[in-house]
Amino acid sequence: MDGAETILITGIFPTVPGAEAIAFGRDGIISIGQQDEVIAHASARTRVIDLAGAAVLPGFIDAHTHLINTGLTRIGFSVDLVGLPRAHVIAALATACRARGPGEWVIGRGWDESGWSDHSYLSRAELDRASRRNPIIAVRVDGHLLTANTTALQFLPPSVPSDQADAHTGTVREDAMMVLLRAGAPDEATMVDALHAAAHQAHTLGITSAHAMAAPPEWRPFMRTRGELDLHIILYPEVSALDHLRTLGIESGFGDEWVHIGGVKLFADGSVGAQTAAVREPYIEGGHGTLIYSDDELRRLIATADAAGLQTAVHAIGDRAIEQVLRVHAQAGTNPELRHRIEHFELPDEGQLVRAAKLGLCASMQPNFAANWSGHGGMYETQLGPDRDRRIDPHRAVLAADIPLAFGSDCMPLSPLYGIHAAVTAPHPGQRLPVAATIRAYTAAGAYLARMETKTGTLAPGMDADIVVLDSDPSAVPNRISNITVMMTFVGGTLVYKKERS
Ligand SMILES: [Zn+2]
Repeated sequence: MDGAETILITGIFPTVPGAEAIAFGRDGIISIGQQDEVIAHASARTRVIDLAGAAVLPGFIDAHTHLINTGLTRIGFSVDLVGLPRAHVIAALATACRARGPGEWVIGRGWDESGWSDHSYLSRAELDRASRRNPIIAVRVDGHLLTANTTALQFLPPSVPSDQADAHTGTVREDAMMVLLRAGAPDEATMVDALHAAAHQAHTLGITSAHAMAAPPEWRPFMRTRGELDLHIILYPEVSALDHLRTLGIESGFGDEWVHIGGVKLFADGSVGAQTAAVREPYIEGGHGTLIYSDDELRRLIATADAAGLQTAVHAIGDRAIEQVLRVHAQAGTNPELRHRIEHFELPDEGQLVRAAKLGLCASMQPNFAANWSGHGGMYETQLGPDRDRRIDPHRAVLAADIPLAFGSDCMPLSPLYGIHAAVTAPHPGQRLPVAATIRAYTAAGAYLARMETKTGTLAPGMDADIVVLDSDPSAVPNRISNITVMMTFVGGTLVYKKERS
């Protein structure tokens, strides 16, 4: 190809000191550096965009997303409960019920009692007030617990253990929760629409690649939209796919530039908010949370994936769950080249950090969590006490231990700039990172965890042209990063989003 398709000039390149311009096309980045060198790659058909001092970064890589859930809320299938006071949650669900026929499911997502004056969970009685004509389920912000109304509870088989579903309070967890989510699940066409909506939202936020954690009904929609989303998807099917992937000989890295198998996702424990994260010292209200697997079961799954050439992404939040994951990796002697990962990794102690580094494990963390729930009066302090609140989400110690650290959003909310702001301004010193390190965690490190670091995540000749343009350099405005505007997003050299001038 002669000449670049696009050249961006008069930019600031925070990750490439001294650069002023970049030339690229669908085949990748052609040149980056001084303006006069870069402009030499122009031809008659080149689009030259004058950035007037805007900042150019590698496109953001969100290392932990639930894109279909995000998209279902965008298209109005699910009711968005994020940030709503208790009374508004009930009102929003009641409105959704009125808009639907009798018996149609209403699914709300994102309520969070930690911000309410009364810190009790949403209850069955409250949902019954919204409607008994429709089955209603309202998923807590962490996705590890939901509240059901009386009509929805009738979809549970009588055999469900009482610790998974409380008919009085309407609180439902674990497998019982999955039964209700499946009963109210959207059809495939709706999930495809949701993915398109989520990809568009990702572009407006500067995201060019997303690691997508996906439950079984979501796998086909990801495959069906392959190449249509203008978003690189690194797919992490739930571990129930393991035997199928292994039988087919599908390893990490299988796929193309649009859908690429990252590995398999599994859960070692639950969440702090649902008091199911497995901790060594009890919660303030008592209880130590729950390990999902025995050591033998978890070792069998991780060893099987490892032998099949599949990376594992194990959700482990509490120190007791992290301990189990480290123990099992050590016993199984897993292959560090697969870059096995621990999701969330919220409460590791010093010794665990050293062992995780030795085992070659990677951390996939969400700085959003510290911003949302850490600090005085926050949910972590209420559930775990001030001591563990100060030690939770230790981004700084993870990097100091030389553990590869990628950041993601977990869609709480989907927004790298929110997460970067959170990591730079987090409540406790151990959670705070310099701007440059935070950007690396949201770009190059996400590529590294997906073994795509030779394709994307940095700006250099030969790399894919996955690029975001921001109105300011985050280092120049460290206290207002979340107010920065995404001006343009390029995926594979194609302009997929441009901010309209207001
Ligand atoms: Zn998640």
